[in-house]
Amino acid sequence: MNQIVIENATVVQTMAPCEVANQVDIVVEGDKIVAVGVNAASGYPLATRFDGSGKIVIPGMVCAHHHYYSGLSRGMLVKAGKQTDFIEVLKQWWWRLDRALDEEACFYSSLICSIDAIASGTTSCIDHHASPSYISGSLETIASGMRSVGIRGLTCYETTDRNRGLAELKEGVAENIAFAQSIDRKKKQGEMPLVEAMIGGHAPFTISDEGLSLMAAASSETGRGIHLHVAEDAYDAVWSHHQYAADIADRLEKFGLLSPKSLLVHGLYLNRHEIDLINSHRVFVAHNSRSNMNNHVGYCSLLQHIDNLVLGTDGCGSNMFEEIKMAFFKHRDQGGTWWPADFLKVLARGNEILELYFGKRFGRIEAGYSADLTILDYHSPTPLVADNVGSHVVWGMSSNAVDSVMVDGRLVMEHRCFPFDVAQIYAKAAEVAKRVWKRVDDIMP
Ligand SMILES: [Zn+2]
Repeated sequence: MNQIVIENATVVQTMAPCEVANQVDIVVEGDKIVAVGVNAASGYPLATRFDGSGKIVIPGMVCAHHHYYSGLSRGMLVKAGKQTDFIEVLKQWWWRLDRALDEEACFYSSLICSIDAIASGTTSCIDHHASPSYISGSLETIASGMRSVGIRGLTCYETTDRNRGLAELKEGVAENIAFAQSIDRKKKQGEMPLVEAMIGGHAPFTISDEGLSLMAAASSETGRGIHLHVAEDAYDAVWSHHQYAADIADRLEKFGLLSPKSLLVHGLYLNRHEIDLINSHRVFVAHNSRSNMNNHVGYCSLLQHIDNLVLGTDGCGSNMFEEIKMAFFKHRDQGGTWWPADFLKVLARGNEILELYFGKRFGRIEAGYSADLTILDYHSPTPLVADNVGSHVVWGMSSNAVDSVMVDGRLVMEHRCFPFDVAQIYAKAAEVAKRVWKRVDDIMP
């Protein structure tokens, strides 16, 4: 079995209780950490050596909500109408981009998003995919991009009726089920998947009751939880009151969609009753500070009441060093009372979702945990100790310090180099982006 030893490193545990241990060896066998400690390497003379001197090793970071389909949108040059509210942003921008995506575009989006994540020290991305012109097979395309780069992921198709009504809803749910079942077949053959499945939905305001009931059936059939935007803008909450005379969370509970494996996203306009309900089902909620600011949708004023809060980017890249800073500073700007350590807890909690889906331990550098690690060239001019890890993450560390990244026991980036030609992939992605942008221009809002 593949053995790698990271020798003589400083281990910083970012999941509570935070700890700092100096001159430590980390022994990795297969996909797991098997020993951590001073001189732990001495029992493994044949293992491949990685010199960790002067390096800091932290558990790999999780982006708990991403949209890989937005990968090719950076700098997108298209004609678009005014975008003065949330619905206009969706209609003028994202719902034109997603309709322009074909198989090749999805694959290159996945490749470049995965490369971006690994280079930023993010070892897992929880993706929420949309490509209404290419639904069937799209999740395997996203997953194959993830596997090619070596990042851990979850993906799902965002079920919606926004283009073609019930037929589109059914196709979306069928794609979620088909992908989950393909993972199950691989597991039966003894494979440990690097990419897992969820049951995706766009948002309650584009999913009819029939759609929610199909998602509930898909969830129980596959054993996966839902991944759904909720109350990103007041519009979603108002729509629920107007069309269904119910709060969003009550509507979801009615269909049995709230479970400990469920991941809701945004939740800015959930009320206190809904937060209590979500907490009682131990549902995860992903906060995406940058995206909220970009879309001018407001701030989640009940953020501190959400028990299972995690951190995502909503497609604004996959750099969790940046995201935690934005989340912290925006929170301070809103008069919130959390400190860096509180947001570090939120970031680290993303590992709990991985544990539920992959059935392994994540988030600590200890024997028995998965070997998903980020190795940093971070040198602090002030003491770095257990009590100030959160402050160092928010005020000091950045993706500039990411030196190497290990996922599932494999070094997928070593000293900032990938084992494949990134420039060639970027050149091809840029060509595909140009083609996609041209198609977006031909798609009416
Ligand atoms: Zn999103």
